Amino acid sequence: MGRLDDRVAIVTGAGRGIGRATALRLARDGASVVVNDIDAEVAGETVSLIEAEGGTALLHVADTVDMEQAHGLTKAAVDRFGKLDILVNNAGITRDKMFHGMSEETFDFVMDVNLKTGFHTTQAAMPYLREVAKAEIKAQGKVAYNRKIVFTSSVAALMGNPGQYNYTAAKGAIIATTKTLARELGPFGINVNAVAPGFIETRLTAAKTDDSDLGIPEQMRQMSLMLISLGRLGVPEDIANVHAFLVSSDSDFVSGVTIPVTGGQLGGM
Ligand code: NAD
Repeated sequence: MGRLDDRVAIVTGAGRGIGRATALRLARDGASVVVNDIDAEVAGETVSLIEAEGGTALLHVADTVDMEQAHGLTKAAVDRFGKLDILVNNAGITRDKMFHGMSEETFDFVMDVNLKTGFHTTQAAMPYLREVAKAEIKAQGKVAYNRKIVFTSSVAALMGNPGQYNYTAAKGAIIATTKTLARELGPFGINVNAVAPGFIETRLTAAKTDDSDLGIPEQMRQMSLMLISLGRLGVPEDIANVHAFLVSSDSDFVSGVTIPVTGGQLGGM
C-alpha cells in the first residue's frame, strides 16, 4: 500500500530538478501523476522514468503562464484519470539582475513564471478540487478525503537576495497567497501549503556560465554552503520528501504554512 494510492496529482515543471524528483516520488507513493512542463523532451524523460519503475504517468506539455493552457492541463488530468486530488505548483525560473538595471520585461517574465503559473493552474483546478469537495459536503456532510495544493516559494523570499528583486517579489507573494487560499479553501477540506527550498542543486543553482541566463556565481555557491548548518547543498529529493508529506493525509491538519527546506541555512530557518 502506497500512501498516495488512488490519488491523481499534477506536478508543474516536472521535466527537471525538483519537479522531476517530486513526480517520481509521488508515483512511487502510488499516485497517478500528470507530468507538466513547457519543455517536451525533458518531461517525456520524466514520464519514461516513472513508467520504468512501474508507475503511472501522463505527459502534458503546456505553458502554465497561459490561462487557457492551464485549463487544458487540469482537464487533461481529469479526462485521463477521472479526477484530480493533488496540485504541486513547482514551475519557476530565475533571471537575476541587480535592481538598478532590471528591465520591466525581466521583472514581468519572472513574476509570470513564478507567480502567475500557480494562480492560473490553481484556478483551473477549482472545478475539480473545490466544486467536487462542495458536492461531497452537500451529499454526505463531509469531504471523502482532503485534497492538496502546494506552492513553491524560496529561502530568497525569507532572507532577501541581491539580484533577485523580481524573484523575491513573486516568491514572497506566494507565502502571502498561500495563507489566503488556505483560509478560503479550508472549509472544503483542501490543504494549501508551500515549500521554501534553500540551496538545491539544479540548473537554477549551477555555477553561472556566460552562455546561460540561469545559474549563480561560483563565489555565491561557496558562500551558501558555509551558511548551511547540515553542511551540504540540498538535492531535489530533499524537497520531494517534503512535497510527499504535504500531499499525503499525514499533513491533513497542516495548512497555510510555508516550510523552509534549507538544511538549517542561517537566516532561512
Ligand atoms: P529547474 O529549472 O531545474 O526546473 C524547473 C522546470 O520548470 C523546468 O523543467 C522548466 O522547463 C519548467 N518550466 C519553466 N517555466 C514553465 C512554464 N511556464 N510552464 C511549465 N513549466 C515551466 O528548477 P528547480 O531548481 O527544480 O526549481 C523548481 C522550483 O523550485 C522553482 O519554482 C524554483 O523557483 C524553486 N526553487 C528552487 C531552488 C533551488 O535551489 N534550485 C531554491 C528555491 C526555490
